[in-house]
Amino acid sequence: MKKQGAENGKRAVINGNSSPLPPAHCLPDALVIISAEFITSAVRPEQYPQDKLPEVAFAGRSNVGKSALINCLIQRKKLVRTSRTPGRTQLINFFKMNDCFRFVDLPGYGYAKVSQSLRESWGPMIETYLDSRQNLRGVVQIMDLRHPPSPDDISLWSWLKEKKIPAIPILTKADKLSRTKWNPLAQAAGRILGISPGDFIIFSAQTQQGRNELLCRVKELILQPK
Ligand code: GDP
Repeated sequence: MKKQGAENGKRAVINGNSSPLPPAHCLPDALVIISAEFITSAVRPEQYPQDKLPEVAFAGRSNVGKSALINCLIQRKKLVRTSRTPGRTQLINFFKMNDCFRFVDLPGYGYAKVSQSLRESWGPMIETYLDSRQNLRGVVQIMDLRHPPSPDDISLWSWLKEKKIPAIPILTKADKLSRTKWNPLAQAAGRILGISPGDFIIFSAQTQQGRNELLCRVKELILQPK
């Protein structure tokens, strides 16, 4: 494969085996999302987009605020539908950003189900995506600041660590609590997941708290070579 430079707007290909990095111009410093479009929904790998664009996946319990978070990042009210919309919520949804990377919206895991393994709790469809997708650069795992991580949250987090898939932990709906409660809750959640409280991004789709920080972390994920 021919070697190309990112600086001239073409895809940077480090060597023949590596995935392309997005052109530099589509990832300015603050990761401004200038375009976002729904591409497809999929269940099986053969239905996934068949190219090498880097992907960042979003995961969380149903109703945690995943759609609101993605819509907040891309500053669109309804590109990603809310949990009340039937149909798409049980599929893996691919969205193309700035024509050079993708957000992947994974189905929310259940409220009441508490089970041992990711496979049981969340289904082989998602495990197959996370385990086999070459395009995947990392996962944004969304949890609710108001509640301790659920057994399913813990199970997904440990599974991602075990598979060495980079993950960004989010505690969302922060606007529903006073700021004085944020730190103690992040500490408690950190103890449960075995991470430092500073690793969390405290987020609110309503106030956009944490949006810039998350965009920076997402950009780091997208730019890491695979
Ligand atoms: P999903 O099932 O994870 O995609 O959840 P949604 O994004 O549809 O959000 C579920 C509910 O929580 C909706 O009523 C949202 O308006 C609400 N919600 C989501 N994020 C926030 C937030 O940051 N702050 C507040 N106050 N409400 C939120």
